Amino acid sequence: METFASIAAALSEFAPDMLSEEYDNTGLLVGNPSQLVSKILLAYEITEEVVKEALYEGCQLIITHHPLIFKSLKKLTEQSPEEKLIASLIRHNIGHIALHTNADNILTGVNKALANRLGIENFKILKPGKDKLYSLVVFIPDEAFERVEAAVFEAGAGRIGNYSHCGYALSGTGSFIPLENANPAIGRIHQLERVSERRLEVIVPGRRLRTVLSAMLQAHPYEEVAHFIHPLQNTDPESGSGGIGNLPKPMNYLEFVQMVKNVLKADVIRASKLHPDTVQRVAFCGGAGAFLIPYAKEQGAEVFISGDIKYHDFFRADPSFGILDAGHCETEWMILNEIADFLNKKFHTFAIQISNVQTNPVKIL
Ligand SMILES: [Zn+2]
Repeated sequence: METFASIAAALSEFAPDMLSEEYDNTGLLVGNPSQLVSKILLAYEITEEVVKEALYEGCQLIITHHPLIFKSLKKLTEQSPEEKLIASLIRHNIGHIALHTNADNILTGVNKALANRLGIENFKILKPGKDKLYSLVVFIPDEAFERVEAAVFEAGAGRIGNYSHCGYALSGTGSFIPLENANPAIGRIHQLERVSERRLEVIVPGRRLRTVLSAMLQAHPYEEVAHFIHPLQNTDPESGSGGIGNLPKPMNYLEFVQMVKNVLKADVIRASKLHPDTVQRVAFCGGAGAFLIPYAKEQGAEVFISGDIKYHDFFRADPSFGILDAGHCETEWMILNEIADFLNKKFHTFAIQISNVQTNPVKIL
């Protein structure tokens, strides 16, 4: 059976906590890491109704997009709605994991889910480069080359766009003298050794670096593995904010707005007065994404869709660039389906249920 800790660790493979924004709070936020789980409730955020639903459904863990504990807590006296909810979770032995800005900042997260909903093709991250890229160079004796190479690729090194297993190898001669207390795989103490080796060079994103290094060290036969890690200036296209892509064919703008409203189940869309007549290149950001408007324009988007767009932001629209505010929740809720899919593929030891509670506190009258 899985525990809160093992589920949190798996979810960090899906959306690494290290990609969360600094102000954020993600991962296992409530609950004993060793507690076992037989049923999980997936909700957009935690409200009293969601806790009731978890109890009724017999769920030991609630996974949400919005974290219940966001600002640091100095007391838990149930004097605020958040404190009441946290106390209620603890009282009922229910755990809480949040995947928030880490799910915003990955290629397969909130914005990919939104792109799928909108029917966008050629999806790319709008403002890439949240994570850092590294070049890993390792020297491998010929006979162990394929094993070490396979291990680093398997652990997540060597991905460039739609290509995996990208690496570069040169043959040469390595030299070393094993000193006192060494336990060399090849060679003898105090004797100069020359070995036919290959120098393998691969690219590694920061979020995979620890896993790749440990896989590389484990597969490598040497006691001391000669390797270098260089930070790169290249931009990581697989991490960052927002999304951009194309509709399969141009659409009449007003028909497009209607389609957005339908697929996002939005009761209302606040739209800029200025906009183009037709639209094909679409940029978007689930939640509050107005900060991405300049990037959307720069990359030739004809419309930008997000939530929480302020009055003054709408002045950035023009006759070739429209802005749509479809709502915060309306542009994010679909991430729950992605998390459910990920967990269903990975685990078969617990049941997963998506909450039926509508937590959106905004109502259109
Ligand atoms: Zn949000």
